[in-house]
Parts: sequence; structure tokens; C-alpha cells
Amino acid sequence: MRLRGADFLAHQSAPSEVFTPEDFSNEQQMIGDLAQRFLREELIPRQDSIERQEWQTTTTLLKRCGDLGLLGLEVPVEYGGAGLDKVSAMLVTQAFAPVASFGVSYGGQSGIGTLPLVYFATEELKRRYLPALCSGELFSAYALSEATSGSDAMAVRTTATRSVDGLSWILRGEKMWITNAAFADVFTTFAKVDGKDFTCFLVPKDSPGVSTGAEERKMGLRGSSTRTLILDNAKIPLENIVGEIGKGHHVAFNILNIGRAKIGAIAVGAGRAALEAAVTYAKQRAAFGRAIASFGAIQHKLAEMALRLWVVESMVYRTAAMMDGALGEAASRDEAVAAIREFALECSMLKVFGSEVLDYVVDEGLQIFGGYGYSQEYPIERYYRDARVNRIFEGTNEINRLLIGGLLLKERQPPLTPAYPIDSQPDPNWLSVHHCRKLLRELTTISTRVFGQSILGEQEVLMHLSDIAMEIYAMDSALCRAQKSRRVLYNWMASTFVSDAIQRIRERAEKLIPILSPEGTADVALVQHLTKWNPYDTIRSRRKIAESLLESPTPQSG
Ligand SMILES: Cc1cc2nc3c(=O)[nH]c(=O)nc-3n(C[C@H](O)[C@H](O)[C@H](O)COP(=O)(O)OP(=O)(O)OC[C@H]3O[C@@H](n4cnc5c(N)ncnc54)[C@H](O)[C@@H]3O)c2cc1C
Repeated sequence: MRLRGADFLAHQSAPSEVFTPEDFSNEQQMIGDLAQRFLREELIPRQDSIERQEWQTTTTLLKRCGDLGLLGLEVPVEYGGAGLDKVSAMLVTQAFAPVASFGVSYGGQSGIGTLPLVYFATEELKRRYLPALCSGELFSAYALSEATSGSDAMAVRTTATRSVDGLSWILRGEKMWITNAAFADVFTTFAKVDGKDFTCFLVPKDSPGVSTGAEERKMGLRGSSTRTLILDNAKIPLENIVGEIGKGHHVAFNILNIGRAKIGAIAVGAGRAALEAAVTYAKQRAAFGRAIASFGAIQHKLAEMALRLWVVESMVYRTAAMMDGALGEAASRDEAVAAIREFALECSMLKVFGSEVLDYVVDEGLQIFGGYGYSQEYPIERYYRDARVNRIFEGTNEINRLLIGGLLLKERQPPLTPAYPIDSQPDPNWLSVHHCRKLLRELTTISTRVFGQSILGEQEVLMHLSDIAMEIYAMDSALCRAQKSRRVLYNWMASTFVSDAIQRIRERAEKLIPILSPEGTADVALVQHLTKWNPYDTIRSRRKIAESLLESPTPQSG
């Protein structure tokens, strides 16, 4: 039986069933290696040109990706793609992440610019456009946001009306923040038919009335194109509707789910590059007569960076493989869309957890460089700037936390099953995670009882609940991976993470109790009981993690 979305809330999966990076198939490993080679040999040498917005460089590199089969990874073979799985797509996203501007251009093309056609377009549109998008003959973009509607995506003002002769759609409005706009040939664009029915259209760049504005001057991702898309009575063919009239939200939000999961992979790839740079620098830089890598304060940072990235990596590939399992069973396009939607909770978690881990990693990485971290001489300065946007796009982290909170309250929750099904000996870490599940269940039940229907408006409550749920998914994924691999290093990382996560969960639960139960004494006792943890020597374990990082010439978080 396959693993299902949100299962982790009810019971602990057997580690043998949970996919980990140690389980990559030869084919997945080959795709990952190919993308890593592309990073080293093609992207890194051209970084400066990419950052100078020499679009010819970016488009040539995208075409090279097309030649290598990397643009159509997730596109079925019959439309010119490679028809590969989400695990492979994550490996490529992770590989390109250190050259973030290119990574985002690649994602704009192969992900949000192409997948709406794969999952929602008519056969005719697919045959006309997908082969060219897979080869890099055509470039694409995704145009949802507007100046006055970002998070509130359904409030777009762009309209679509039938032309007088009834043969075309006429689009009027302006889209903002559109990645790849400088060179895109087609834009997946959202507009309201007759000002009311939210609908997705495919807008060719060469249609009458279509143009783009000036480049945004951005904090990071300076080598990616971000412009407005101007639709001035743009005339597009009648058949260029993607999905159904009035159902544009199905397209917009399901495709964003995949994009959100990929932010987890971006966090792993970009974060590792920052960690490697920090380790190398810490070994070389001397202060007070010693390499700064020998100081406990620096070792703490390096170990924490490595272990958080390892946890995100565990969550990313676990989720991608579960999506692949569900997609493998889908017999129709509707079932494939339902399979993606089933993992909406995990996708939002990867987005929020991953982007915040990445920001932590680049921030601490920069700190290790001291003043040099603040100079453009070192790549950590760019990693720091490039990371920040991941908390903003693909739905801000606030919006994703609210989505997670809402899903937690909405999900039909199966009965909790006892922890530690694998060993007869109850492991204290598994037991702690099980108790946290119980606690979350208890808190969601009380929240619904206290606030009734208005709970969805209690944002602070939802944020705390979603943070607790993320910590549970993270702990569960880390423990499964450690147990499955039986590596000592992984055990230190999982135990250190769990020890700290339990304390963060307790803090969040304690913040909730006063509003959920003003009388509260019994509930405080419950929180304390369920978040009891065995003191674990996280100082010594981080030292050991740091030691192993410093010994390895090319440190890996996993
Ligand atoms: C570099 C870059 C590339 C991008 N690429 C694309 C692209 O290719 N295609 C595209 O369509 N868009 C793209 N975007 C746009 C991006 O998706 C939006 O910026 C994002 O969705 C946030 O919308 P906003 O900027 O309007 O912020 P707002 O929605 O105005 O949000 C402002 C703040 O208010 C918070 N907030 C908003 N609503 C709520 C609420 N209900 N409850 C609590 N807090 C709330 C937000 O979390 C945020 O902190 C890109 C943006 C950037 C910066």
C-alpha cells in the first residue's frame, strides 16, 4: 500500500517504506550527476554573464538543457519530454540552485511555465507547444501576479472578453513580477472572463497588443528576468484556454504545489553551496593563532547548518517519492491532478521549512566570513541576497502557513496509531514524536471547539499549529532516514534535531494554551507531559557533526 498525503499526522511510517536519498535509483543518480556536471562545467563559468543579464547566455544555456533532456523532465514522452519522476526533477532543481538566477529561469521554463500545459491543456495545445518547450525552441513564463494582487491571487484585474467577431479573446491588464519575461515566447496567464470567471490562457508573445515592461531592479536573482507583462487589448486565439473557463484556480494552485515542493530542493542545493563555502573559509581563516574552524562557536554554526539541510533533504525526497507513488497510480489527467493535490500539505511545508532553513544557513554562513562576507568578492554575499526571495514567491510563507493550518483543521484525521511499530524496544525519540502528534491533535481539536467556524480567522493560532506540524514532519523524516541508513552521523543529526524540535514545539504549544484555555492548568500539564524529552548532549553531538564536516574535503550534509 502506498504512503498517503498527511499520513505522518496519524502514524509513524516504517522507515523501510520511507524513500530517502540513499534510495536513489541508478537512473535518478545519473540525472542528478548530469545536472551537477552542467552546474560545474556550464553554469558556474558563466555566472558573471548571467548576472549581467546577457539573455543570450541564459537562453543558450536553457537550450543546452533542452538538448540534454532536462527541460522536459516532467513532460510525457509523447510530447517530447523525458517522462521522468518528481524525484529526478528535484535532483535537477537542487543541482542548479547555487546559480540561483539561472535556477529560477530554468524553473520558470520547465516548471511553472510548462506544467500547466501538461496537466490542463487540450491535446491540440499540448502537441503544438510542448515539444518546442522541451527542446528550448520556445521559452515560457507564468503570469499570475499583478501590482495589486499577489497573495490575493483571485483578485486579478486582468480581463478577457470575446472579440466582436467571436474568433479571439481580448485580454486587458498588466501582470507584474513575471520571471523569464524578457525572452519568453508564451505566457501562462490568468485573467477573468467578462471580469468574473478566473481562467488560464496561453498568451503567445507575438500576439497583437502583448509587450513587456522594464526589468525590475532586484535585491537578488539579478541575472533572472523579472518584468511586467502588458496586455493592451491583446488578441489571442480562442482555443488558447488552459483548463476550463472559471476554473483557473485549479491550474494556478495545483501547479504552485509542485513549485512549492521544489523550493525545498532549492534550499538543499543553495544551502549546501553556502555550507561548503563556509567550511572551506573556516578552515583557512586564522584568528587568535588558530583556524576559526577550531572554535566551538563556529563548529556549532557549521553543524547546525549541515543538520538542518540534511533534514530538509530528507523531507524533500520523501515527499517527491510519495508524489511519484500517487502519480504512478493515476489513470487519468484528473487523477494526476488529484495526486498532486493530495500532497498540498507537505508541499507547503517544504516551501516554508526549506526557505527558512536556507535563510538561516546563508545568514550563518555569511557570519562565518566576518567582514569578507559583506563583500562581493566572496560568493556568500550573493547566496545571501539570492536566498531571500524564497520566502516571498510561490505563496509567501505567511500564506503557506495559513494553508497548512487550514488543512490541519480540515483533514479527516484517522485515529492515531501507537509509535515504534518497527522495534519492540520503544525508542525515546519515536515516542517523543508520537507524543507531539497527540499534542497537535489535542490542540487542533481544542482550537476548533473554542473558535468554531471563525478559527480560520485566528491567524496566530494557525501559524503556531502549522509550525508544530512542520516540526513533526521534519522529525519523523529525519528519524526514518537515520534508522533506515544506520549511519552514526545521521543518528547524531536526527537526535540533535529532535531534541531541539521538541523544545520549540513546547514553546509554541505554551503560547497557544492561554488563548485556547484561559483557565488552563490541566492543559499546561498536558503540554509539559507530551513534550517531555530525554536530555541529549547536543553540544557534544554538534561537535562530532562539525568534526566530520571538517574532515571531508567536500562536505556533504547528507
Ligand atoms: C523575484 C520575483 C519573481 C517572481 N516571479 C513571479 C512569476 O514568475 N509569476 C508570478 O505570477 N508572480 C511572480 N512573483 C510574484 C510573487 O508571487 C508575489 O510577490 C507574492 O505572491 C507576494 O505577493 P505580493 O508581492 O503582492 O505581496 P502581498 O500579497 O501584498 O503581501 C504583503 C505581505 O502581506 C502578507 N499577507 C498578504 N495577505 C495576507 C493574509 N491574508 N494574511 C496574512 N498576511 C498576509 C504577505 O505574507 C506579505 O508578508 C515574483 C516575485 C518576485 C519577487
